[in-house]
Amino acid sequence: MNEYDSNRILDLTKKINYSETKNIDKANCYILNTCHIREKATDKVYHEVGRLKKKFKNKLKPIVLVAGCVAQAEGEILLKKEKYIDAVIGPQSYHQINETILKLEKKSNPINFTEFEVIEKFDSLNLVKNSCNKVSSFLTIQEGCNKFCKFCVVPYTRGAEYSRSIDELILEAKQLVNNGAKEINLLGQNVNAYNYKKSRLSDLILEISKIENLRRIRYTTSHPKDFTDDLIEVHKNCKKLMPLIHLPVQSGSNRILKAMNRKHTIEEYLQIVKKIKLLNSKINFSSDFIIGYPGETQSDFSETEKLMKEVRFINSYSFLFSARPGTPAFDLKKVNQEEAKSRLIHFQNLAEKIKIEYRETLINKISSVLFENKVNNENRYFGRDEYSNSVIVESNRNLVGEIKKVRILKGNHNTLFGEIDSNLNQSNYAA
Ligand code: SAM
Ligand code: SF4
Repeated sequence: MNEYDSNRILDLTKKINYSETKNIDKANCYILNTCHIREKATDKVYHEVGRLKKKFKNKLKPIVLVAGCVAQAEGEILLKKEKYIDAVIGPQSYHQINETILKLEKKSNPINFTEFEVIEKFDSLNLVKNSCNKVSSFLTIQEGCNKFCKFCVVPYTRGAEYSRSIDELILEAKQLVNNGAKEINLLGQNVNAYNYKKSRLSDLILEISKIENLRRIRYTTSHPKDFTDDLIEVHKNCKKLMPLIHLPVQSGSNRILKAMNRKHTIEEYLQIVKKIKLLNSKINFSSDFIIGYPGETQSDFSETEKLMKEVRFINSYSFLFSARPGTPAFDLKKVNQEEAKSRLIHFQNLAEKIKIEYRETLINKISSVLFENKVNNENRYFGRDEYSNSVIVESNRNLVGEIKKVRILKGNHNTLFGEIDSNLNQSNYAA
């Protein structure tokens, strides 16, 4: 979402004649867009600003803005501690960015914009064309969260759930497709909580799928509680919807899920997986896990490993619990950190083994790859298959924006390598 936000900030600042520079040393204005989800986020801001100070030691100071969730959560402290920062702008206030920059050009005092004005933000953004011209583009459809998992800062930094109108989303999706997008990834902290005048994510997907020249749709990140039957059905009916579902579970233990205030059980989670697999067996899952949540025992952890083995997530993101100031879990007694780290290593090894086994099933099979860019000016092209796996092929012809059937020849941890063969047999299609 920060990538989407950064692009929109750029679109807004073009209105006051600013443009992106790759040459940081010559920037007049420096905007640091930040994430606050895990520890060290604030340290990173001080570190970045420190580097900037060094760069501009004997030069005119640029305007320095800190945007995003660190600004929202710790803006006041940042401004007090680091005088080089001119303004902090929370994620729901970045429509005020031009006003802020213009004020700072006239040497104003430090500025703090950390209100939750999400309606106003999107109203302002709708007036500015989305100029992102990537083959695979992001589109924020929903922001914020009302779920209040005990470990998470999102409800405090992004505010309450807010869904954008279908009309404005269709308009922006069409802009992206006109700019060359072939794939749109619908974004939200709780993307499947999307609800605009009774229209749900399933309705939005079906509407967006009508856009000609749009080939692929993805959405992230879903919450199990909001995975309703209408959304499950869309995976059967909408051919443009990709067969990978990112569905964070966090833990395999009902006791820990309850302690986290996740609002779902493992049985409910597995029921969703089962229903989806019955409708479309090609669908695979990826997930997020928090290891070492306060109170997690070895037996709770074993349940998480059991879930991993049962669902066989093809991709997973696992993190040690990180105590975030202001969240209810902040003061809870931590699990012994040595033990937590050892569980994390165990878990990541298991996840990696499952991932490798899955990737081995792709070798010598055909994948459908949407090519996004050329690699380092060589005759090599980077794309993603339907499951978001990175694929590289060699080609003398420009493949950017095209979907090709690719035979996968080999792979490493991050990337699959293949070749395009127009005579490939359709029945070999990789599941
Ligand atoms: N809304 C999604 C859901 O319900 O799972 C997740 C969105 S959250 C912004 C992204 C991921 O960050 C979470 O799935 C979780 O695994 C991780 N995360 C959030 N807070 C964390 C914390 N305090 N410590 C470790 N990981 C955390
Ligand atoms: Fe954070 Fe997701 Fe829980 Fe909301 S549902 S509080 S975004 S982890």
